[in-house]
Amino acid sequence: MLQRVDVGERSLSSYRGIAPDGLLAQVREQAKQLQGARVLHLNATPYGGGVSELLRSLVPLFNDIGVRADWQVIGGDNEFFRATKALHNGLQGGKEQLSSAEETIYRQTNEQNARQLGNIGSAYDVVFVHDPQPAALRSFCDRADQEHIRWIWRSHIDTSIPNPAVWKFLRPYLAGYDAAVFTMPQFVPPHLPIERIKIIAPAIDPLSPKNLRLADSTARQVLDWIGIQLNRPLITQVARFDLWKDPLGVIAAYRLARREVPDLQLALVGSMALDDPEGWEVYRQIQAESAADPQIHTFSNLTGVGNIEVNAFQRCSDVIVQKSLREGFGLVVSEALWKGTPVVAGRAGGIPLQMSNASLETALPQTPQTPQTPQTQTQTQAAASTSEVTVGGVLVESVEDCAAGILHLLQHPDEAEQLAKQGRERVRQQFLLPRLLRDDLSLLNELLN
Ligand code: UDP
Repeated sequence: MLQRVDVGERSLSSYRGIAPDGLLAQVREQAKQLQGARVLHLNATPYGGGVSELLRSLVPLFNDIGVRADWQVIGGDNEFFRATKALHNGLQGGKEQLSSAEETIYRQTNEQNARQLGNIGSAYDVVFVHDPQPAALRSFCDRADQEHIRWIWRSHIDTSIPNPAVWKFLRPYLAGYDAAVFTMPQFVPPHLPIERIKIIAPAIDPLSPKNLRLADSTARQVLDWIGIQLNRPLITQVARFDLWKDPLGVIAAYRLARREVPDLQLALVGSMALDDPEGWEVYRQIQAESAADPQIHTFSNLTGVGNIEVNAFQRCSDVIVQKSLREGFGLVVSEALWKGTPVVAGRAGGIPLQMSNASLETALPQTPQTPQTPQTQTQTQAAASTSEVTVGGVLVESVEDCAAGILHLLQHPDEAEQLAKQGRERVRQQFLLPRLLRDDLSLLNELLN
């Protein structure tokens, strides 16, 4: 069931000249007292979504600086992942609750994975458990030979206002953790039974195939090959097929924008993740909504759209859209800005953190205060505009603002270029991988030394 993911090798020194001066030295400083420490990262999927994206880059870098790191993926069947998707939705404030059968499969699957981990427990000093899917596993690991292990729960989602019933279910399983990590302070859920809390934002890997520099001509060739018309304006959303990412709201915004830019194309690039069984249903809804419009293109990892294609989309689109309703961080925003492409994005979770001038500590966006299910925003809303032109592009809260933001950037290319340039610098300063590595190492030092 548990599976080790092979991530290859990478070197911290290759980030010299890309990440800010000084950061690599800080990483090495933090690593000094951690030589030989053994770290395990546990999550629920080896592909699809931001966590697997992060681990693929982070784990080899840990090894490069002398911390021995592994990445393992827990096993589970469809029923388990349906239960964990309900858990995920509930923790993000969705109305959905887990049935008692779902609670049972969640518990049992975690217990089975814990039993497997038990055999290798003595091989690690620290275990990072990512997100809610494997979170209960720690409560089933209480063998004497595991006492030295420090457990960290790394939550990547917005758990600021969890559904009370769902939170009541998960909360006891978190009691044995030594530390919890959230992307933003306001994501810390009420009465968290973990004393040590760290706030660490995720980051992108500028050297991964998704983000590495791609010649303009190559990127255009890639898009041409998969059917994008390069002589027409293009907007793209890259996101798992998930209602919290509001793909139908993106289509509605595109339709409004197209009234003024008739040759506008929309690409919805989505992926299916192993741990997200709702993806197919959302994909079907997108297909139904877009079937009649040949200027809407839908792509996925299952039809061969992988890292290089995503790189090309993020590089060559006139505007990248990320109209999330709830968002942990939204790596795709930093990915687009790093490529100098302006972004129109929902003011949700960690997105405003990326599109701001403020320091990480003070850039604290507002989160809606009531639990909700992801409501596709297809209706015209009378509310006054709350959009804001900011570092990297435009932050929006409605379909109309999203359309207006897209039009603004399309019709003011010089301003759009300027905003994107500021966005790229923001990403360089705050959201490149070595910064995340430094912050994780600092937490390891707190726990081990
Ligand atoms: N992604 C991808 N192909 C897709 C859709 C998404 O490679 O079709 C990647 C995307 O580039 C990003 C990650 O999956 O690196 C999504 O991370 P994000 O934090 O934006 O959202 P999450 O899926 O974790 O909610």
